[in-house]
Amino acid sequence: MSPNQSPNEIFDITIVGGGPTGLFAAFYCGMRNATCKIIDSLPELGGQLAELYPEKYIFDVGGFPKIRARDLVNQLKEQAFQYNPTVHLSERAQQLHRRDDGIFELTTDKRVHYSRAILICGGIGMFTPRPLPAENADAYEGKGLYYFLDNLDNFRGHRVLVIGGGDTALDFALMLEGVASEVTLIHRRDGFRAHEESVKKLMDSTVDVRTFVELKAIHGNGKVEKVELINNKTKEVTELEVDAIVSGLGFSASLGPINEWGLEIENNEIVVNTKMETSMPGVYAAGDVVTYPGKVKLIATGFGEAPTAVNNAKTFIDPKAKLSPGHSSSRSE
Ligand SMILES: Cc1cc2nc3c(=O)[nH]c(=O)nc-3n(C[C@H](O)[C@H](O)[C@H](O)COP(=O)(O)OP(=O)(O)OC[C@H]3O[C@@H](n4cnc5c(N)ncnc54)[C@H](O)[C@@H]3O)c2cc1C
Repeated sequence: MSPNQSPNEIFDITIVGGGPTGLFAAFYCGMRNATCKIIDSLPELGGQLAELYPEKYIFDVGGFPKIRARDLVNQLKEQAFQYNPTVHLSERAQQLHRRDDGIFELTTDKRVHYSRAILICGGIGMFTPRPLPAENADAYEGKGLYYFLDNLDNFRGHRVLVIGGGDTALDFALMLEGVASEVTLIHRRDGFRAHEESVKKLMDSTVDVRTFVELKAIHGNGKVEKVELINNKTKEVTELEVDAIVSGLGFSASLGPINEWGLEIENNEIVVNTKMETSMPGVYAAGDVVTYPGKVKLIATGFGEAPTAVNNAKTFIDPKAKLSPGHSSSRSE
């Protein structure tokens, strides 16, 4: 989506991170008549839901007994876009500076953004998949090697190798069962870190589970066609013909440059008070990125923290504004 406002315009609230918390915060900015801009390093909105588990069902968001992650993101976008927030995707927020006149200058890898307040909804940070240990893996990225399961149709009727023993890998394997023609899962140990229920489902499934097995090499002419697997106990090497490899080795995430903004940080999380204020006046934070006593990292808690942050930011920008927004049900259609 292309930005629809002048690049030097000063926004009321600039939100770093367009995951569920940032999207709901953007909606709330509209409710409070605050102009809003969202910046995200990913090419699409939705944060972890869109990037890590779009096809999974979520059962613990109020009002939705069951909703697919992708559908929740679409609903959040529809809700937020009622107020036309400006959205900058594929942009990494790198530096934050507050000018003498109080305006924040937020520098990304592409430009400078100007804002009266900042709301950090950066989640687990900018996340990158853990690389596969096979030497030539890089060459096959986008050519049959996947780190995200964003479209199951890409795997329909294919022979798929899934790698890993945690929740991500097991979820991937179980989602692919019935879509792919064959699913093989390899794990370097015989103990799984995934939930017991998922391990049981895996063992009862048609997935070919091979333990003490690691990926040695990938072969193919411009795309994945065959892998070499090594048994780490017997050192026996076997070949397996596959059309796709899905790495479920997890992700490493870091706040990265946000660590350098001078905010109080504890264990890679931003310390906030009950107003969602960080240690820097005018800078708020909400969602997975924050810590406070009793913090629970859930979509539902982010949905609570976002309006708290936006309503308090509104009174920071305009000290005459009321903290309480009133009821949305009083709004005319
Ligand atoms: C497999 C899996 C299943 C889950 N299931 C559930 C569930 O059933 N129920 C539940 O409540 N929770 C679940 N969660 C957790 C849930 O996804 C998170 O709590 C939620 O995504 C947090 O939302 P957020 O908006 O705070 O952060 P995120 O979703 O992490 O979004 C943060 C965004 O900020 C962006 N960002 C970070 N740093 C920068 C920067 N410097 N510049 C620009 N952009 C930046 C990132 O790219 C990202 O898009 C699950 C998580 C996983 C991995």
